[in-house]
Amino acid sequence: MKTTIVTRKIEFYVNESDKDLKKQFYQTLRDFSYYTFKHANELVDTNRMVDVIKRGFGNSKNEITSEEMTEQLSGMFGCKPVSVPYKFSNQEFRDKLPSNIRVALSATINALYAKDRSDVARGNRTIRSYKNGMPVPFTKTAIRQFKFDVERRNFTFIFNGIPLITRLGRDRSDNKSILESIIEGKYQLCDSSFQIKDGKFFLLLVHKVPVEKYKLNEKRVLGIDLGINVPLYGAINDKKDRIALGDRDSFLNQRLKFQKRKRQLQRDLKLTKGGKGRGKKLKALESLSTKERNFAKNYNHNLSREVINFTLKHKCGIINLEDLSGFKKNTNDFILRNWSFYELQTMIEQKAKKVGITVNKVKAKYTSQRCNNCGYIDKESRKSQSEFECTSCGHEESADYNAAKNISMAHTKEFQKEIEKHASSLKLCEA
Ligand SMILES: [Zn+2]
Repeated sequence: MKTTIVTRKIEFYVNESDKDLKKQFYQTLRDFSYYTFKHANELVDTNRMVDVIKRGFGNSKNEITSEEMTEQLSGMFGCKPVSVPYKFSNQEFRDKLPSNIRVALSATINALYAKDRSDVARGNRTIRSYKNGMPVPFTKTAIRQFKFDVERRNFTFIFNGIPLITRLGRDRSDNKSILESIIEGKYQLCDSSFQIKDGKFFLLLVHKVPVEKYKLNEKRVLGIDLGINVPLYGAINDKKDRIALGDRDSFLNQRLKFQKRKRQLQRDLKLTKGGKGRGKKLKALESLSTKERNFAKNYNHNLSREVINFTLKHKCGIINLEDLSGFKKNTNDFILRNWSFYELQTMIEQKAKKVGITVNKVKAKYTSQRCNNCGYIDKESRKSQSEFECTSCGHEESADYNAAKNISMAHTKEFQKEIEKHASSLKLCEA
């Protein structure tokens, strides 16, 4: 069966009535967190060391094959080069971290290091370093005796000998049913982590969920255009159905209201030097910021939910999203600065994954200039922000629909070739 991997954030605390023991358990958790960050950086350092030595060998005059290099390094370290980071830092952290944390940590850190290596070499990023407070990964065997406590309406479990209990609270995201499914074996628990944030303890519980079976057409694609006129516009490659979501004006008005109120509070704060009044105003400002963030987040949640419903209704197996890397960076437009398109895309991706819809990131170059009727690309065809009229075939269409329709086809090789051809012809004209 097809499955998908999901992470849930669940608050927990120590489940122990004896005061001293309780204190000790909390300290152990904090120590785990502290030594994890130390260990993580140590792993990065040892990975680097092996790389530097390898480079030294490579630069020496004697030509050396990679097999010979591996042999020499193995002799030097007493183990294979890939095992060096684990072997070295393992000695130092053996009595500070349980093996279920050390194993998961070195797997995570080494994989990330290997992934970043080529980017670092090209100068596209620097080497990752880790801060105190990072998530503490552990293998799934670290959690034992997971069960529901009927009286306290929460789940208890033992983590490395420490008795813990969840704090589900209002449980709006229904973590209870997920934990029940894990206990029943319907969902499979995976290697997870815990994190301490602002003095609170959270499980970042990773588990495998079977993908619900929707009968989707694997060739039908929903293309999504994120824009200024209509925040989100969707079109299907082989159907005329379309979806326009969001309302620019109401979104902007709400955001402006927040910002106006914030500026007012900030001005008032400057005039209030101290005392109770100041504290009150600071609190008001803080809660306003939280409200503003929640407003934008909820807005994106609603949009992404509607997109998925539309996709399922039309049985699209694929969603094409614009590749936002380098997207309209220098824009001055208020809506683009105030709207988290990335967040919206991430939400769409997450929700799509759960129902088995594939998400493509496509380059959206020229998708607003290309005529979806005849394929002709011309920036003059875009008559205005909202109208499209092809300068070649005369086809008229809403600019948003035309762009979304192009995006729904942009993953195909033919389409990319067409775009490349156009781009190179433009270069020829300039030259
Ligand atoms: Zn045309």
